[in-house]
Amino acid sequence: MKRVIYPGTFDPVTNGHIDIVRRASELFDEVVVTIAKNPGKTCMFSINERIEMLEESLKEFPNVLVDSFDGLVVDHAKQVGAIGIVRGLRAVSDFEYEFQMALMNRKLAGEISTILLMPHARYTYLNSTIIRNLAAFGGDVAEFVPLIVQNKLKERFISKKNPS
Ligand code: ADP
Repeated sequence: MKRVIYPGTFDPVTNGHIDIVRRASELFDEVVVTIAKNPGKTCMFSINERIEMLEESLKEFPNVLVDSFDGLVVDHAKQVGAIGIVRGLRAVSDFEYEFQMALMNRKLAGEISTILLMPHARYTYLNSTIIRNLAAFGGDVAEFVPLIVQNKLKERFISKKNPS
C-alpha cells in the first residue's frame, strides 16, 4: 500500500492543485491531501471551509482523502503511514523553496521521499493568492477553480459588499 501526503494551505483549492492530485492518485495507492494549520499565515477560509471545498472538488477520486494537521509535515507523514510527500512545481521560481524543504525533510526523516510533480502548462501561473485577488476585484474565476470555490468566493465578496 503506497500512501503519500500532499500538504499545503489550499486557501482556496485551485484547478492547479487538483491537477497535481490527479497525477499523484494515478501513481500511488492513496493520496492524503492535508491542510497545514499554519499559525503564521492569515487565511481567507477556515480549516473547515477548506476541508469542505477540497472534499467536494476531489470526490471523483476514490483513493484521495482530505485531512489537516498541526506541526511538522514529516511527522504527519509518519503518523498516516505515508512513504512520501507530494508537492507541485510550477516554475523555476518554486524550485529553490521546494528543494530546500525536500532536503530539510530528508534530514528530519530519511525514509520519507519528496515527489515533485509538474502540472499541465495551463496551470503554471495559477496560485491561491491570485485567485483571491481576482475574486476580490470582481474578476471571473470560473476557469481556474472548481464550482464550490467559485460559489464560496462569490458569497464571501457579496457579503462584504452588502454587510447586513
Ligand atoms: P503552500 O502554502 O504550502 O505553498 P499551497 O496550497 O499554495 O500551499 O500549495 C501546495 C502545493 O501545491 C505546493 O507544492 C505548491 O507549489 C503546489 N501548487 C500550488 N498551486 C499550484 C498549481 N497551480 N499547479 C501546481 N502546483 C501548485
